[in-house]
Amino acid sequence: MPTVSDEKTNEQLRQLPAINQILESGSAQKTALELGEETAVKFARIALDELRSEILSGAAADSRGGLLALAIEKFERVAGSERRSGLRRAINATGVIIHTNLGRAPLSENAVNALVENASGYCNLEFDLETGKRGRRGRRAENLLAELTGAEDALIVNNCAAAAILVLTALAKGGEAVVSRGELVEIGGDFRVPDVMAQSGAIMKEVGTTNRTKLADYEHEITFNTALLVKVHPSNYRIVGFTSVPTVKEMADLAHENGIRLYEDAGSGALVDLSEFGLTDEPLIKRSIADGADVVTFSGDKLLGSAQAGLIVGKKDAIEILRKHPFYRALRASKIIYAVLEATLESFKRGKHFDEIPVLRMISTSESELEKRVTGLAAKLNEISSLSAAVIEGRSVIGGGSAPMAQPASKVLALTHEKLSVNELEEKLRLSDPPVITRIEEDKVLIDLRTVSNAEVDVLLEVFAQLD
Ligand SMILES: *Cc1c(COP(=O)(O)O)cnc(C)c1O
Repeated sequence: MPTVSDEKTNEQLRQLPAINQILESGSAQKTALELGEETAVKFARIALDELRSEILSGAAADSRGGLLALAIEKFERVAGSERRSGLRRAINATGVIIHTNLGRAPLSENAVNALVENASGYCNLEFDLETGKRGRRGRRAENLLAELTGAEDALIVNNCAAAAILVLTALAKGGEAVVSRGELVEIGGDFRVPDVMAQSGAIMKEVGTTNRTKLADYEHEITFNTALLVKVHPSNYRIVGFTSVPTVKEMADLAHENGIRLYEDAGSGALVDLSEFGLTDEPLIKRSIADGADVVTFSGDKLLGSAQAGLIVGKKDAIEILRKHPFYRALRASKIIYAVLEATLESFKRGKHFDEIPVLRMISTSESELEKRVTGLAAKLNEISSLSAAVIEGRSVIGGGSAPMAQPASKVLALTHEKLSVNELEEKLRLSDPPVITRIEEDKVLIDLRTVSNAEVDVLLEVFAQLD
C-alpha cells in the first residue's frame, strides 16, 4: 500500500517543470544570450536532474513558488558557479599584498592605460618606426630595466621560473653549477631548485650545510668543468640563528678569478630600498649588479608590482647568449607584458613608484592612515543593523614569497553578523558579485583595507548592503 510520502513524491514528480518552462525564465534567457542556447539547455537539464533526485530522496523543499521556482533557483546556482569558474575581478580584503592565488600584483593605472592604448591592437612590437624595418621586441622595457638596475643589458621572459631555466640551460648545460645546501628550496607552485637544475641539464654541485656555507666551500668545488656559481634567494623560507653565507661581492670575485659567472635568482627583487618598511632582506637588484653578479633574475609581479614576467639583468655577453638561445623564443613575453612593464618602470624612473604602483603604495601605507580609513568603514557598516564591526590591531602580509618576516602592523575590521556564522559570512562575501575575499581569525571575519583601494571600499559597502 502506498504511503503518504510516496504519494507526495509521485505528485511532485508529476509536477516537475518542463525544460522549456525553465528556459523561459529571465535567468535562462540571460544565459542563452551570453553563452548560447545550448549552454542554457545544459544548465536547465542539470537543474532538473538535481530537483528530480531531491524529490526521490524526499529532500525537495516545499517552495511557495512551487517546483518551477526551485528549478530556476537551481539553474541560477549552476550558471553562477560556471561564471565564478572563469577569471573574475575580486576584492582582496585579506591584507596579503602579493596574493599568489588572487593574481599577485594589481596593475597601476598607468599600466592599465598602456595595456589598452599601446598593446591591445596593432603596435610596433617588432617594427622600428624610425627605419620602417624590423625592430627588436621589448627593447624599451629592457632598456628601462637596465637603466634602473645599473646593468649592461636586460631580457624579459614569461616568469621568473622560465628565466631560471633559460639562464641555467644557456649558461651551464653540461657544466657544473655550484649552489649552497641552504638554498635548495622550494618556492611554492612546484618551483624546486634541484628540479629546475636537473631540467636545465646543469650538473648541480651542492656545497656547505643547511645553515652555513663559506666562500671556501664554493672554492673547493670549482673544477675545470664548473660553469656557474648560483645564489638563490630563499624567498618564503628563513633560517635564523647560527647562519652565514658569503656576500654577492665575495662570490662574484671568486667566480671571476676562476673565469666563470655568478648567477643570482633574487626572486622578488626590490628595485628600490624597502628596509624602512621592514623589508630588510630582499636583495636590491642594483646592489647585486654593482657587486658583480653576472646575471640576476626576478619576478615582474612581486615587489616590482607589474605583470607576470621573468626579468633578467646582467652583463652584455651573458644576456646576449640568453637572447640567442632557442629557449628564449619559446619563453618570450607578449606585447601586453611589455606595455605593462614599460609603464610600471616609468613610474620608478620619475620617482613616483610609492604613489603610482599599488604594491608599493600598500607596503608604504602607514598604520595611522589605515586606522582612519578603517574607522570610517566601521561606522558605515555598523549602520547595517545585523552587522557588528570593530576596529582591532592586526598584521598585513607581504606575500608572494617576499619578506616573510615583515608583517606590517595594520588596523583591521573584525566583523560578526547577527544571523550568520563567521563561516557563512565569509562564504556569502566570497560568493557575492564582485567576490570579496576575507580571512577568519578568532571567530571573526577580518577585513584589512591595506589591500583594498578607496574605489573598492564603495563596492564593498554595496556588497554589504545586499547582505542584510
Ligand atoms: C617567486 C620566485 C621564483 C618564481 O617566480 P615566478 O615569477 O613565479 O615564476 C623563482 N625564484 C625565486 C627565488 C622566487 O622567489
